[in-house]
Amino acid sequence: MNAVTPPEALASAAPLHERRPALDRLPVIIIGGGPVGLAAAAHLLERGLEPLVLEAGRQPGAAVRDWGHVPMFSPWTYNIDRAARALLERHGWTPPDGDAYPTGHELAEAYLDPLSRTPELAGRLRLGVRVTGVARVGNGKVRSAGREQQPFEVRVLARDSRESRLFARAVIDASGTWSSPSPAGGSGLPAMGERDAAAAGRLHYGMPDVLGAARERYAGKRVLVVGSGHSAAGTLIDLARLQEQAPSTRIVWALRTRGHLTRAYGGGAADQLAARGAVGTRLRQLVERGALETVAPFTVDTIEPTGSTLLVIGESDQEQRSLQADAVIVAAGLKPDTRLLAELRTDLDPALDCPRALAPLIDPNVHSCGTVRPHGAHELAQPEPGLFLIGMKSYGRAPTFLLATGHEQARSVAAYLAGDEEAARRVELELPETGVCGGPAVVAEAAQAPVCRLPAAAAAPEAPGCCGPASPPPPAVPPAAKGCCG
Ligand SMILES: Cc1cc2nc3c(=O)[nH]c(=O)nc-3n(C[C@H](O)[C@H](O)[C@H](O)COP(=O)(O)OP(=O)(O)OC[C@H]3O[C@@H](n4cnc5c(N)ncnc54)[C@H](O)[C@@H]3O)c2cc1C
Repeated sequence: MNAVTPPEALASAAPLHERRPALDRLPVIIIGGGPVGLAAAAHLLERGLEPLVLEAGRQPGAAVRDWGHVPMFSPWTYNIDRAARALLERHGWTPPDGDAYPTGHELAEAYLDPLSRTPELAGRLRLGVRVTGVARVGNGKVRSAGREQQPFEVRVLARDSRESRLFARAVIDASGTWSSPSPAGGSGLPAMGERDAAAAGRLHYGMPDVLGAARERYAGKRVLVVGSGHSAAGTLIDLARLQEQAPSTRIVWALRTRGHLTRAYGGGAADQLAARGAVGTRLRQLVERGALETVAPFTVDTIEPTGSTLLVIGESDQEQRSLQADAVIVAAGLKPDTRLLAELRTDLDPALDCPRALAPLIDPNVHSCGTVRPHGAHELAQPEPGLFLIGMKSYGRAPTFLLATGHEQARSVAAYLAGDEEAARRVELELPETGVCGGPAVVAEAAQAPVCRLPAAAAAPEAPGCCGPASPPPPAVPPAAKGCCG
């Protein structure tokens, strides 16, 4: 293992040039101590590299704990990283039953907490520190000369608002997307009045615990859910349970298109993750039973307070339509916060904000299988050498990210940083498919949308995924510097 300069030493009052150690004595900084960030740390340790994980929350897995009441649709087998498991087992950890389905809280308490307490990781995880920006020391985004020889400067803000900086040889951004929900507004901007409704506590994002901590807000109320992904589905199912306990609860579900309704039902029994398929099946039953009122198509435009309720005004089949609600839950997807990396050179897909080479594999316009062509360091690499986006953040705005994907990304990136090119390229990813294969248009046309029959593992690196085109060859290294005239 390299002798690493302790980050505290780097934050001293000495002039910058005296504090900056050689690149290879610096740690690899991982932004985010979620399941994928911690897995990356375990893989780096296995490779003899020095990780330093920076987590904004007070505990590891802060985002996972935020949706802690939600049962996961993948069993433990898919949720535990191999290197993390090896590290834990070295300290006598007993793994949970591989076939059982944890909640978010169980994932954090039975896996992430003990992992973060292992002697190897405990001193390499900083909690309560938010990364606010990353740059190359002494270089803005524009300056090319010699930037690759410069360490990364990672700016962090502690909970007491103290600012400090750390230096890194490489940066792995595993900060997820949970804290940047997409707004209800159909244009992607918040609907007119949406911010005010949120500030007034009448509109919430994500998956509020409608059966637990947030029960009073929704019981006996008319609740409007906007969105069509897994989060919307899970919330609707919980609201239907709440309706059984508090029968005056009314549930309205607004979706952008009718096709999204069929898509939300998912692959049912054809889904290789039975629990994920069951969510869609249960949702369909609730709609057919009349427990939920669906409004599709509906595009939210304006949200106005009217007395103690909200008037949600939008467009449906080219006509204006208004929906009245006591409370609104927006589950319209998540998007990455790219401001962190604004001073670095990135190459993100213009539609999805994910690493460009990954986009053709996960674009929901052409793909809904849930299986992804094997990919790793080369697809995730950015024009800024040493910078990688992994985990939920690597999917940008695309849905269907699975932890198993993140674990494989972590393994490949660690291999790459350790100089093991062969292992970095040899990506073995076996993902359970959703059972629904095709873009939304295809799915909208027929409930019997084409079903993925190919085993995910059968997709060779060069082969197209069953739902989309093959990705272009990996961009790998940044383009060689050109002369001043091109
Ligand atoms: C409700 C829900 C259910 C899901 N169920 C499943 C499932 O069953 N199976 C499955 O495989 N996947 C599931 N996923 C998808 C995905 O696997 C999870 O979102 C998973 O938590 C992603 O892990 P991650 O480490 O990439 O990101 P996160 O878990 O989001 O972790 C990112 C971490 O980074 C921290 N952070 C963010 N910004 C900063 C910053 N600037 N500085 C420092 N720290 C920062 C956050 O506090 C957080 O702890 C689910 C997702 C959701 C939302």
